[in-house]
Amino acid sequence: MNSPTLLTPGPLTTSPETKAAMLSDWGSWDSAFNELTASVCRDLVQIVNGQAEHVCIPLQGSGTFAVEAAIGTFVPRNGKVLVPDNGAYCKRIARMLGYLGREAIVLAHDEQAPADPARIDAALASDPGITHVAQVHCETGTGILNPLAQIAAVVAKHGRGLIVDAMSSYGAIPMDARNLAFDALIAASGKCLEGVPGMGFVIGRRSALERAGGNSRSLAMDLLDQWQYMQKTGQWRFTPPTHVVAALRAAIDQYQAQGGQPARLARYSENCTALVGGMRKLGFETFLPDSVQAPIIVTFHAPPDPAYDFGEFYRRVRDRGFILYPGKLTSVDTFRVGCIGAIDAATMRQAVAAIADVLREMGVRRTR
Ligand SMILES: *Cc1c(COP(=O)(O)O)cnc(C)c1O
Repeated sequence: MNSPTLLTPGPLTTSPETKAAMLSDWGSWDSAFNELTASVCRDLVQIVNGQAEHVCIPLQGSGTFAVEAAIGTFVPRNGKVLVPDNGAYCKRIARMLGYLGREAIVLAHDEQAPADPARIDAALASDPGITHVAQVHCETGTGILNPLAQIAAVVAKHGRGLIVDAMSSYGAIPMDARNLAFDALIAASGKCLEGVPGMGFVIGRRSALERAGGNSRSLAMDLLDQWQYMQKTGQWRFTPPTHVVAALRAAIDQYQAQGGQPARLARYSENCTALVGGMRKLGFETFLPDSVQAPIIVTFHAPPDPAYDFGEFYRRVRDRGFILYPGKLTSVDTFRVGCIGAIDAATMRQAVAAIADVLREMGVRRTR
């Protein structure tokens, strides 16, 4: 097997159709490519029912580039951003704010607890200077799902702007711009839409975007400039990730043919159930309680057995065709297994069987 199954939060396992879509070359000036971009952007807005007030601004690069561009474009230079923090991707946003010279207020949470709408409410009430809240939806560092609808309602009640990092949830977890107030919602080609990595996109409120002139300190990351240029010419500013866009077009076609968001959530939920059930049978413990676990990526405690070593475990599982992911927690030893990508519950059961074989081989007896 030369192409392993990726059980990671991206890049993901892609379908043969998505891979095949990358076998042509596209000219960035060509009208066929411009139509491809326009159709992808149209669908990306529609997936969250944002046609009335939102537009799609695609951006070259990985998801982080689009998050940083969204913050740098939508938050004024003298803005102040509240960051409810329950994991690594929240901390990444706080770091970005430092680089961008925007004031950050970090609201620290336990990593096993969802972001608390009541604490966000209190923070906004006590500091009228906070202009925006930057919220990670599914915190991929642990796999926890934050209560986006309640948080959006609190932010709207206070009349502040909401920026959502929906990177690992967009397309799989329900979100509807008609009843979810946000200025910017960010995701990328290579997550739950199951495209290949290389392009982020921002679903931005048009009125907020139009007020964003002069905010960005970076030309390449200025989403207003990117959007205006695209409106005028149909083209990307700077070299577009042509093959990534073509693969995303194919991935969205499959997404829609398979039943869209409800079907994607159902498949990922089955994957997650098969994974967690199988791993618990082997004695593994999940880091999160089931009530807050998103069916996207699962954090497991590392076996406390002296025979266990993640590097060795990883290599042996990889030799059986599955790529696992290291943990992202500083305080506890963990590893992660993704449930997303062009994989199904049978794949997850095979992965659990491979893990069981490897534990036996390594002489790991205690998994908890
Ligand atoms: C994947 C991901 C990102 C982007 O990470 P990249 O490494 O830049 O692709 C941002 N936020 C969340 C929650 C993610 O899962």
